[in-house]
Amino acid sequence: MEKRQKIYEGKAKILYTTDDPDRIIQYFKDDATAFNAQKKGTIQEKGILNNRISSRLFTYLEERGIRTHFMRQLSDREMLVKTLQIVPVEVVVRNIIAGSLAQRMGMPEGGDLKLPVLEFYYKKDELGDPMINESHIAAFDLAKPQEISVIREVALAVNRHLTAFFEERGILLVDFKLEFGRHKGEILLGDEITPDGCRLWDRVTREKMDKDRFRRDLGKVEEAYQEVYRRVCQS
Ligand code: UDP
Repeated sequence: MEKRQKIYEGKAKILYTTDDPDRIIQYFKDDATAFNAQKKGTIQEKGILNNRISSRLFTYLEERGIRTHFMRQLSDREMLVKTLQIVPVEVVVRNIIAGSLAQRMGMPEGGDLKLPVLEFYYKKDELGDPMINESHIAAFDLAKPQEISVIREVALAVNRHLTAFFEERGILLVDFKLEFGRHKGEILLGDEITPDGCRLWDRVTREKMDKDRFRRDLGKVEEAYQEVYRRVCQS
């Protein structure tokens, strides 16, 4: 697969066209940002670990009937994916109170929820990705009502599969962000699933094993990503 032009450079990834318009290459960088890119840094080898973690998780989900953009890992930092027309909505699923939910509800982090919480954010960096609901998505035509219902069901199914996957590896899936896109008329799960966009806590110690170590200057950031890689890809 021939890598051609850079079409997009984001905070953690670069996208390249290939000789096939239906396929693009996702290149994973070591760069890390937080708080809408006000905090910047690098996490050594993050790109390599995230590419492997994401490849493993997409493969696991595909085996369980989730339709994703993932095709195959090409190299240490590259994966081949189906070209998507991205739906400009970030979908967050939460199992435990943390982060912005803890702030919004005035509750300490770590509390249980009766049911998973599903949230939508408008993907707009200039606005800091404001929270929206399904009626905004329909009214602003960000996605068709039928697409929204697919996205909701798939996000909750992904949550069930990943919760079980991480549980077997001694990890609590606290919350995570997903993105979806259209490919030949079908809604596919896109982007990445990595410790950059998931909160992952050790089940026993509740130690944080994700980007919160970088966001909150907790130290041992590389070690946490390595440990997630070890548990996800080597067990
Ligand atoms: N998240 C993300 N990108 C964003 C915002 C959130 O990947 O732009 C992920 C984040 O890593 C966490 C979940 O979505 O796993 C919920 O994040 P939250 O709303 O608590 O926001 P944060 O505390 O990151 O500001």
